[in-house]
Amino acid sequence: MIQPIYQKKLDDLLAVCRINLRTVNEDLIARAFEFSLEAHKHDIRDSGEPYFNHPYEVAMVVAKEIALDDISVACALLHDVAEDTEFTIKDIRAEFGDTIAGIVDGATKISDIFRSHEITQAENYRKLLLSMVNDIRVMIMKFADRLHNMRTLEYLPPDRQQRIAKETFDIYAPFAHRFGLAKIKWELEDLAFKYLQRKEYEEIAHALNSKRREREQYIRRFIVPIEHRLGAEKIKFEIEGRPKHIFSIYNKMVKRGKPLDEIYDMFAVRIILLTEDNNECFTVYGIISEIYKPIPERFKNYISIPKKNGYQSLHTTVVGPEGKMVEVQIRTRGMHDVAERGVAAHWLYKEDDSAPTVDSDIESWVNWVREIFEQKSGDEAAKELTESFKVALYQDEIYVFTPKGDLKILPKGATPIDFAFEIHSNVGQHTIGAKVNGRITPLNTILQSGDQVEVLTSKKQTPNLDWEKIAITHKAKAHIRRWAKEEMREKIDQGHELWDKKIKKAKIHINDDELTKFVHGQKIDNTQMFYLAIANEEINPDKMIDLMTRAINPSEPPREAPDAPAKMFTKFVETARGITSGITLFGSNDNFMHKYAKCCNPIPGDEITGFITVGEGIKIHRKNCHNIQAMRAHGDARIVEVQWPSTGTADFIAGVKLSGHDRSGLLNDITQTISGFNNTNIRSVSINTKDTMFDGNFILWVKDIAHLNAIMDKLKKVKGITKIERFEE
Ligand code: MN
Repeated sequence: MIQPIYQKKLDDLLAVCRINLRTVNEDLIARAFEFSLEAHKHDIRDSGEPYFNHPYEVAMVVAKEIALDDISVACALLHDVAEDTEFTIKDIRAEFGDTIAGIVDGATKISDIFRSHEITQAENYRKLLLSMVNDIRVMIMKFADRLHNMRTLEYLPPDRQQRIAKETFDIYAPFAHRFGLAKIKWELEDLAFKYLQRKEYEEIAHALNSKRREREQYIRRFIVPIEHRLGAEKIKFEIEGRPKHIFSIYNKMVKRGKPLDEIYDMFAVRIILLTEDNNECFTVYGIISEIYKPIPERFKNYISIPKKNGYQSLHTTVVGPEGKMVEVQIRTRGMHDVAERGVAAHWLYKEDDSAPTVDSDIESWVNWVREIFEQKSGDEAAKELTESFKVALYQDEIYVFTPKGDLKILPKGATPIDFAFEIHSNVGQHTIGAKVNGRITPLNTILQSGDQVEVLTSKKQTPNLDWEKIAITHKAKAHIRRWAKEEMREKIDQGHELWDKKIKKAKIHINDDELTKFVHGQKIDNTQMFYLAIANEEINPDKMIDLMTRAINPSEPPREAPDAPAKMFTKFVETARGITSGITLFGSNDNFMHKYAKCCNPIPGDEITGFITVGEGIKIHRKNCHNIQAMRAHGDARIVEVQWPSTGTADFIAGVKLSGHDRSGLLNDITQTISGFNNTNIRSVSINTKDTMFDGNFILWVKDIAHLNAIMDKLKKVKGITKIERFEE
């Protein structure tokens, strides 16, 4: 029925499948072959050959170089049918079922996306990701398709060559890398490089060719003693000289700023052990180190710590004959499989042919998309959910990177807070600052595609409610809200406790009804909100007590002027004082009347002295205040010794103002220095940067002034800090 020439092709394909795939449905592949052949029978490629050769070669790549499964091979044969022929996805579904139709449809859609030029690259990325969610085989097939197109790119006009090569370089090669398809990634990169920088490509290719014989002889000489020793140890292995990739050589030239002939540490050998025992790799490493002198710094153990895409191997560089450096990779057959075929080798075969699950790294990509679609409704308002949907579906995405270069995809308008929660909720919740492209940046900065973002964290940090306004991703907002709910419950308890303590001290007796009435009088909804406001320092409980006392005894004057200016310092001082429970006089903690002197503005933790006044109770000064020292010099009897109540725990808050030259890692060094000292807690941080200068306010929990001084001493030693002072007016 099929012409002999095509029968031969089918037989070849089936033979390759039988060698490489675990199971082969030969009937399926034969049917897909015939269907494709028939569908494309009138089509011709740019090269002039029958169009069918293209899907056939793509199927060969899938079967041989990715070695996935028979369904992918069938899909590869059919991948252009719906796009280029009179047949439709419907026809494919009728003939081959839902799975195959779904994959072919996915591949067709991706092609459509790339064909329309108006669509931004960002949109392409998103579609690629979305397609992966349905079936990862769509992507695998696109890699094979692209590889064959790149191999035959010479037949296209130059402008299309350029466009396709660039797209391959920018999108397909990085994606192939993430999938762990190392071999395909390198070939895509080399081919793209060839069209994008032909002169450089040809120079390197020519140089490699002209020295090929020389190189091969050298490698043979290098290998012989290894083969002898491993043979004697009865180790089963394969050894091969490994050609270096042209683009990687070019990269080295650029990175090291050296011409080609100085990059000749290009000898590379790979030993593949035919064993499942990882330890044998280390044995072989030992043997090679006995034969050739190893360079210790170049040893890399990716077996104990695999790369993110699952790559495992030992790398060592040794000094071979004539003092030339040779890189040796040692790995088992299984590791080699993963190294070359990545996700395909990870393939988890399932009983049915539904979309397979893939382990490890790929999942995090897939999860990103999945998350949007699988948000559990739970107690989440439906409206919030639809909004997140809209954000995810209709807004452009930005592509930002971790310091290690991992890509994170966020909606446009995302801030470092979103990024932090994207990395992990634990990172998000402990964020204290962020660096964007190496510079300290406010947390509400809008990130741009291509930004490299580093999140600075502190174990002691908790989310700030304002973050909910800064964050735009559903994930970050949900985490902040959830935290806020728990936090609110805790805060209410805290505020309640503090209030009870205060009224007990003030010897006020008030029942629940009376309190509710009083709270309503303050235009606060209920007592819960009253306690919350106390814990949040929005209401000063002392003022409330004053109000109550005056209600009982109107002759008593107000203790403090209402609402001081909302300067950060004032708020800080109030908070600091509010946290301590008054002042101790002669060791007693009775609630005696006191005021803080304006001249020296003592803050809890300062050494203090009291001065008895008429009408204002005891004025609290710093011990070193010049006013008080002048009076002490006169032997003034009105001076009394007072203390902050001591609790033995880190109870005071103190502010430190730092300024200096910004540098990479500075904020992190500062926070590490602080929290590294006796586990000091950081209450809040605010940072400003301008050009290369930085200044920041850190509010800390300290035990006493000695504790604070010790931290300040330590901070003085942090590189880049030029000025450090206590937070004062
Ligand atoms: Mn194609």
